[in-house]
Amino acid sequence: MRQTLVAGNWKLNGSLASIDGLLKAVLAGIGEVDNAEVAVCPPYVYLPTVQTMLKNSPVVWGAQDVCDEDSGAYTGEVSAPMLNEFGCKYVIVGHSERRSIYGESDEFTARKFAATRRAGMKPILCVGESLEEREKAVTEQVVARQLDAVIALEGVAALTDCVIAYEPVWAIGTGMTASPQQAQDVHAFIRQRIAAQDASVADKLQILYGGSVKGNNAAELFAKPDIDGGLIGGASLQAEDFLAICKAG
Ligand code: PEP
Repeated sequence: MRQTLVAGNWKLNGSLASIDGLLKAVLAGIGEVDNAEVAVCPPYVYLPTVQTMLKNSPVVWGAQDVCDEDSGAYTGEVSAPMLNEFGCKYVIVGHSERRSIYGESDEFTARKFAATRRAGMKPILCVGESLEEREKAVTEQVVARQLDAVIALEGVAALTDCVIAYEPVWAIGTGMTASPQQAQDVHAFIRQRIAAQDASVADKLQILYGGSVKGNNAAELFAKPDIDGGLIGGASLQAEDFLAICKAG
């Protein structure tokens, strides 16, 4: 039985004041969340604040990205060992905004995945197709390619310590959620592809769905057999909306 994970990706949003209000409200309601592990991923600079507010609580935290190198002359970057010092459990790698806006390749994403594991944290590896790719019916090829880059570098056993988030790009921040069956189909494809190499890794792997998850559609998505929770963007910025999703877990 896989545990449900609901992870909030705050993206480039928040301030010291808004985070204080948001986390106080999340902590006030977290007692009503029975089944899901709950995580939040703030911008880097707010990690110390988030760590202070969440330590000794059931809510864990992570980062939205990481450098593929551990240290050195990489101006502007933040390394996995640094994130580990601030108590991060998870690191999102390969989010579609990193891939499309910053041109991060499958291979580069795989190196970030490796850096996260080296430092003892769990990558949340994002995969997913664009609208054009879905319309061309190449969703499975795209997701397989993104997955295979990580397996080629790290081996299939590395997926034991990781989470995969299937996020169709056309559903992110658009209000166009994949239907539960559309999402389930791709989740099952991911699990079967991994099972072909290692059935036990595939069975234990948490595969999250991301893309316009809200309080009113989360339960139906999470009820699907291969959907083990959600990666939540916009709705993770409002405590009431985020908690409603967490309770659906
Ligand atoms: C995301 O950015 O990972 C995401 C799923 O965003 P949203 O929930 O806003 O679609």
